Amino acid sequence: MALIVQKFGGTSVGTVERIEQVAEKVKKFREGGDDIVVVVSAMSGETNRLIDLAKQISDTPVPRELDVMVSTGEQVTIALLAMALIKRGVPAVSYTGNQVRILTDSSHNKARILQIDDQKIRTDLKAGRVVVVAGFQGVDEHGNITTLGRGGSDTTGVALAAALKADECQIYTDVDGVYTTDPRVVPQAQRLDKITFEEMLEMASLGSKVLQIRSVEFAGKYNVPLRVLHSFQEGPGTLITLDEEESMEQPIISGIAFNRDEAKLTIRGVPDIPGVAFKILGPISAANIEVDMIVQNVAHDNTTDFTFTVHRNDYQAAQRVLEQTASELGAREVIGDTKIAKVSIVGVGMRSHAGVASRMFEALAKETINIQMISTSEIKVSVVIEEKYLELAVRALHTAFELDAPNHQGE
Ligand code: ADP
Ligand code: ASP
Ligand code: MG
Repeated sequence: MALIVQKFGGTSVGTVERIEQVAEKVKKFREGGDDIVVVVSAMSGETNRLIDLAKQISDTPVPRELDVMVSTGEQVTIALLAMALIKRGVPAVSYTGNQVRILTDSSHNKARILQIDDQKIRTDLKAGRVVVVAGFQGVDEHGNITTLGRGGSDTTGVALAAALKADECQIYTDVDGVYTTDPRVVPQAQRLDKITFEEMLEMASLGSKVLQIRSVEFAGKYNVPLRVLHSFQEGPGTLITLDEEESMEQPIISGIAFNRDEAKLTIRGVPDIPGVAFKILGPISAANIEVDMIVQNVAHDNTTDFTFTVHRNDYQAAQRVLEQTASELGAREVIGDTKIAKVSIVGVGMRSHAGVASRMFEALAKETINIQMISTSEIKVSVVIEEKYLELAVRALHTAFELDAPNHQGE
């Protein structure tokens, strides 16, 4: 008998009918003899609705209170699913994060799970109950409700699977697996049978929202067998695996990720002397703003230009800080651009193949897409381009790296 953690995302529990369907599915698994812990998200749109409510009170809602509120979305779905199971004769019980005691740190709105008390869940499973746990939420050591960041129910699922040493963590969603790129943008995208943790981690951190990045980190760290599947269609889904060997025969590039959430800032004409990068980025990090890509140009006339990207939500704050730095350093000007996008190609195959980046640049050149910034690591190449070319770029790269599904080719 196996112990399975199943997580159902927002669209999969988006209506009462869907919750009933999920209950049917869980019931079937249960009849197969497995122990089941189910993690659910809020009904789709609910978390956004709650955040909008808070924003009607304040543009910057108090993080603690925001967590008290947004955590209610999941509290509704756990109760509805438990009711739907009980109605079908399946013994079930629901718990909030606090009730389980999913202990987190105190960083409201982006808390990290520290520890999970598995006692209650184990007792319920022994007694034959399906345990339904609220995703996305926990409690800190002072008893404050916390949430884990958008998409955080994935992380609840994986963390529970790790704590319970489950045989598998199944992430049920509205696509039948992890694709070569977002199938909503590229209809020719193909489902991957397998992807390594390392690649999935890059894909998630570079913008593929099919799994929250922390859930992949957790799964890698605790070696949790993780699978992404469609909630209501049969199929093998995608296995996230440690095993790199088996993916060696796959193409050089496993996937293409993209992200419209960044903005670019440039400070021009700063003195080219030691310590300048620190003088520019020190105050940015002191303002709690995370920097992603950084480029410093070659100096001429003893001055240089320095460009970096931040999350779009942090753009205005970063601009204010940079203006201040610019006047202190006697820089020429600060310019910025919010209409950018980052496109990345990801694949462990890059380690053993040369010329991957130039192939990427060639494909973009053919579409006359200008590259504004470039950054590389062992298994990825990212470029920043003008946002309006994002979809064109992703499609061109998908074709250039031969990722298009055969039956779609030539369309
Ligand atoms: P859930 O509500 O179930 O958590 P999400 O909306 O968070 O679902 O994630 C699923 C969505 O992720 C898909 O509908 C798809 O548009 C998007 N997505 C982005 N990149 C990928 C990818 N590489 N493979 C599959 N889906 C992707
Ligand atoms: N309901 C939360 C969100 O919308 C968590 C999740 O769905 O994973 O971000
Ligand atoms: Mg999600």
